[in-house]
This record gives sequence, C-alpha cells and structure tokens, in this order.
Amino acid sequence: MGKITGFLEFDRKIEAYAPVEERIKNYKEFTVPLKESELKKQGARCMDCGIPFCHSGCPLGNLIPDFNDAVYKGKWEKAAKILHSTNNFPEFTGRLCPAPCEEACVLGINEDPVSIENIEKNIVETAFSKGWITPEPPTNRTGKSIAVIGSGPAGLATAQQLNRAGHSVTVFERDEKIGGLLRYGIPDFKMEKHVIDRRLEVLKAEGIVFKTGVHVGVDVSAEELQSSFDALVLSGGATIRRGLPTKGSDLKGVVQAMDFLKQNNKRVDGIEDLGEEIKATGKDVIVIGGGDTGSDCIGTSIRHGALSVTNFEIMEKATLERPIDQPWPFWPMRLRTSSSHKEGAERFFSISTKEFIGDKDGNLTGLITAEVEWTHKPGERPNLKEVPGTEKEWKCELALLAMGFTGSETTIADQLGLEMDSRTNVKASINNYMTNVPGVFVAGDQRRGQSLIVWAISEGRQAAHHVDAYLMGSSNLPLKGDGDLPRV
Ligand SMILES: Cc1cc2nc3c(=O)[nH]c(=O)nc-3n(C[C@H](O)[C@H](O)[C@H](O)COP(=O)(O)OP(=O)(O)OC[C@H]3O[C@@H](n4cnc5c(N)ncnc54)[C@H](O)[C@@H]3O)c2cc1C
Ligand code: SF4
Repeated sequence: MGKITGFLEFDRKIEAYAPVEERIKNYKEFTVPLKESELKKQGARCMDCGIPFCHSGCPLGNLIPDFNDAVYKGKWEKAAKILHSTNNFPEFTGRLCPAPCEEACVLGINEDPVSIENIEKNIVETAFSKGWITPEPPTNRTGKSIAVIGSGPAGLATAQQLNRAGHSVTVFERDEKIGGLLRYGIPDFKMEKHVIDRRLEVLKAEGIVFKTGVHVGVDVSAEELQSSFDALVLSGGATIRRGLPTKGSDLKGVVQAMDFLKQNNKRVDGIEDLGEEIKATGKDVIVIGGGDTGSDCIGTSIRHGALSVTNFEIMEKATLERPIDQPWPFWPMRLRTSSSHKEGAERFFSISTKEFIGDKDGNLTGLITAEVEWTHKPGERPNLKEVPGTEKEWKCELALLAMGFTGSETTIADQLGLEMDSRTNVKASINNYMTNVPGVFVAGDQRRGQSLIVWAISEGRQAAHHVDAYLMGSSNLPLKGDGDLPRV
C-alpha cells in the first residue's frame, strides 16, 4: 500500500486555510487545495501496516489503505470507486468528519497520521469534476415501497441504498429543503450548500422521490404512511435541544443555537422572510457550549460582525496529548481547536452559567458565571462542584445556547406505539434497526442520539440492508466491512 518508504520521506500536509481577515468577510468555504503531486505524496505515506486499524476507526469501514494506494498511483477513478463502495457521500465526510480513522491510524502511534479525510475529499471532488459520479438507477424494480422520514445524512443514505436495491423510495422532509443538519445546522463556511444540491441531483435522477414541507405526524399521520408503504424508516434526528433553565433564561437575547444557525443558513440561501432577526452584529456574544454547534455559532457571530465572542465550556480543558486512559487506537478526548475558534473567540473551560441579567425592558445585558471543579473516581461518572468565591459578571447582549440535544421527538413514536430508550431515542435493535413495530425501522441520530455525519451515513446503510432483507427475505446491500474493491 502506498510507497513503502513514503512515511519516512514525506511529512503530513493538509489543506491550508485562507487568512482569517479574508475568510470572515463571507460565508464561503476557505480551504486552499493541495496540488495533485502533493496529494499523491500524502497517499504514499500510508505504510502497508498490515492490520489497518483505520478501517475500524471509521464508522463506515472505509477501505482507506486501498484508496490511499490508488491516489499515490494517480488512479483517481479507481480511488473514487473504492471510496463509494462504503460511503455514499464522501463530499460530506471529507469536509466535516472529525476523522476518527486518523486517531486509529498506525502511523499516528509515533508520527503524524495519514491525512485520510483530506485525501477522501480530493478523491470525491476529482470524481465530480471529471464526471465520474453519475446516477445509478436500478435495472429492475421490486414493486416494494418505502417511506423515509427525515432527509439528513441518515435518511439520504438509507434512501440511496434502498433505491439501488430496486425499491421505490419516497423521502418526507418537513423543512423547505432537503439535507437536515447538513443544510440548516452546519454553516456554508464549513460546507457550501451546492455540495448537497449536486448530490441531490444524482439521487433524484436515480428515481428517489422527495417531498418537502411535509411534517409527518402533523400534515400526514404516521399510521397513514404505514398503511401506504411496505416499510417506514425514521431518520428524523435528535432534535430536542438542551435548555439552560436558570434565572433570566427567558430574556430577549438568550437564544437557542439552532434558531440562530438555521436562520443564518436561510439568510445565506437568500431567503428573506425570516421572522424576528437574530444577529450578533455589534454585540458582545457569549456562546455556551464547546462542541461543533458552539464552534459554528462562533464563526457565524464573527461573520455578523460581533463586538466580541466568548465561548464557555463546562468541562475542564482537555490536554493536547492523548489521555493515558484513552490509548491508541481509540478516539481520545483531547483539546480540539476549530477554524472558527481561531477566528477570534476567547475560550473558557470549567465554567458554569448561573444567571442571565437583563434591563427593565427584558433585554439581556449580561450573565453571571462560577468556576466549577470536576472530580473523577474510577467506575463513577465525573462529579462537578462549584468553586466558592469565583462568581463573575460578564457583559453580553446575545447568549447562544449550544449545549447539545437531549433526544428525539415523540409524535411519530406515539402514533405508532414505538418504544423509546432511556435517552429518549427511538429504540431499535442494533442487529436489525427495527423498532418494536414490524416494518418500522430507525437510523441515525433518532436511534443513537446526537452524533456525527459519518455515523448517520453508516446507520442509514446498515438500516437499508435490514429493510431490504425484511422485504425480500435476504439482501445483497453491503453491511459495514463489505466494501468492494473494483478492478479498474
Ligand atoms: C450545528 C451543528 C453542527 C454540526 N457539525 C458537525 C460536523 O462538523 N461534523 C459531524 O460529523 N457532525 C456534525 N454535527 C452532527 C450531525 O450534523 C448529525 O449527527 C447528523 O446530521 C445526523 O443526521 P440524521 O440524518 O440522523 O439527522 P438530521 O441531520 O438531524 O436530519 C433529520 C431530518 O429529519 C427531519 N424531520 C424530523 N422529524 C420529521 C417529521 N416528523 N417529518 C418530516 N421530517 C422530519 C428534520 O427536519 C431533519 O431535516 C453537527 C450538528 C449540529 C447541530
Ligand atoms: S468518513 Fe471519517 S472516519 Fe471514515 S475515512 Fe472518512 S474521515 Fe475517516
């Protein structure tokens, strides 16, 4: 795989970013692509390690050494085929995946890992630019029909797999446009929306039907869909946002991150009727929550022209190094700094928001925090304690709550009599993704809770296999680990 001595000869390189002062002027992606000669060197760093732990690090089981080798040899079409054999949408993961594969890369034990995610993005972008990604409609139809509810990455992967197996698939989405959090959560500066639209054209040409503006459970009952389709797949995401029910949380200016991000994504899309405007322009902004959502709020606030952006994280500051109890090849909880963090936000850790303060008109003017201390005992959940005497008042006119999601909505589950798990997600066996109601399946964040795009695609693919097997008695749709090595 790759060049036997490649990892000794070449250093890891990934795309550079445009300078901060330039990129914050707009919402466009700001990476500077590597030259083909450099990408080949990066593929050459993959070192024939024997047991590619990256396969198991990737929730899709991507055949990483094989596509690295193809890139090293300049066989881009072959690389694209290998990549698509396990991943329906590498253009999403190649831009947005936190790359657990790289944390599991054998070279990463004592060197910088192979730049897998960046190679993945370049393979799929080359394939689109060369016209190699074309619709693959099925040759025969089975006569079976499936309704997929929710059009995020889980729903789209499920739909594409099932359609390719010859079933007639209709995707129902309550928003105006398809894409789930890819479209309405993640800002354009991380992934421009034409990237979603380009893939949707392929899916439509393959025969998948998309119905937008249909809220299942409200506009049409789940029972009605159940009686009109042979199987249902729920992929509605984990949409219940975690709140901060403390004094002053009803003040004007305390805003859920998803309201802020969704409105901005629509604004960038040119939509004018947005309701009450939520903007950070000229404000001191505090983003509460240190994850992906918080980071996206930071980048968006900076592009709005916020006066200042401050980020709070209740957890303690992680180290840059792998913690000793999270050894290779596992995913380590280490300090991660996103491109948005580098655009001018100040970050504070081990800090808890106690109260929001407002003026007589009910507008947010500030908030009060306290420092917290974490204790860790083996076998127990970490415990947090406020540090006395550390209260501090901060000025802010916009506080964005980006503290994650607590589970999925229950309307459809109630209508169909579905069991939920202890974390308010729809319960389904990992063995077949089927709920307690035969013929009703669930995939993505709605099953596993708030997670990642790569997991959503993986769940969609796995669920599709089991739906196909349920309808037909057996399935040829690949499961994780069934990737195909084409002879090109
Ligand atoms: C702001 C933000 C940034 C993120 N950034 C990243 C990142 O950089 N990298 C990463 O890997 N992950 C990221 N994530 C997580 C990732 O986006 C999700 O894990 C992933 O989108 C889940 O996919 P899904 O298909 O399960 O659900 P979703 O993407 O949530 O899609 C669910 C869809 O179902 C629709 N729906 C729900 N109920 C109904 C109904 N009853 N009728 C019709 N339609 C319905 C919703 O409108 C939505 O469109 C981010 C999440 C957020 C919130
Ligand atoms: S999808 Fe994510 S984990 Fe899998 S190979 Fe790509 S970057 Fe790595």
